[in-house]
Amino acid sequence: MPTTTHSHIPCNRDEIGVVACPDCSEPMKLTCTSPGLEGYDLMTFDCGKCERSKTFVVHQLTKAGS
Ligand SMILES: [Zn+2]
Repeated sequence: MPTTTHSHIPCNRDEIGVVACPDCSEPMKLTCTSPGLEGYDLMTFDCGKCERSKTFVVHQLTKAGS
């Protein structure tokens, strides 16, 4: 059964970059983003090796037309 870790550390998406699995150190893949608290998004990363899942809380980026 996949374990989910919630890391409530607000940070920018750009600062997240490549996430290493806390269990096996494999690079984790971003599998989904969803709206979190006001002004924040939840980004969920999954490890393809051990199915560990990790969720980050990130500052929502303002979409300023690019
Ligand atoms: Zn892993």
